[in-house]
Amino acid sequence: MALTHRSPWELLVATILSAQCTDARVNAVTPGLFARYPAVDDMTGAVRHELESIIRPTGFFKSKARYLVACARAVASRYGGQVPQTMDELITLPGVGRKTANVVLGNGFGQAAVIVDTHVRRVCLRLGLVSTSDPDRIERALQVLMPRGLWTAGSQHLLLHGRYVCRARSPQCGECAIVRECHWEGKRTP
Ligand code: SF4
Repeated sequence: MALTHRSPWELLVATILSAQCTDARVNAVTPGLFARYPAVDDMTGAVRHELESIIRPTGFFKSKARYLVACARAVASRYGGQVPQTMDELITLPGVGRKTANVVLGNGFGQAAVIVDTHVRRVCLRLGLVSTSDPDRIERALQVLMPRGLWTAGSQHLLLHGRYVCRARSPQCGECAIVRECHWEGKRTP
């Protein structure tokens, strides 16, 4: 499952909504959200309680609504309604950290971007690719380990591997394609 979007702005919104929420649930909410607020300018003037009721199923809806309106206003006032295309600019937007920025750069603009979320962090630690749990340092480590052309796809693979196979509580080691390369002490030997 991936976040459904038709533009970098929609991807940015969907990624903000995906915090602590499944992609499937975000994808169930965004068609109605973008029907009501089709463009950045529409979101800048969103009535808070109406916006909150639309995004409520994604959880943490009050803070997410606050971020969406503030983010839209920043994009409208500082970037002429266009989502900026650099990390330095993206992380100045409300609700946008490096992970969200990398999702937008990689999947919205086709730039080389290493996405580090909780799944990527767990898989990297278990595989011994990194010795830190700090997301920024993991991002830099993966930039060195992977050719630039594979940054986005490679980190996406790690993310999906962590989400569906190398799960936090019940890693599916019996179904893991890289079980021989994994020397994690908690590995479940088939
Ligand atoms: Fe994760 Fe198990 Fe695969 Fe190791 S063998 S990467 S712990 S699923």
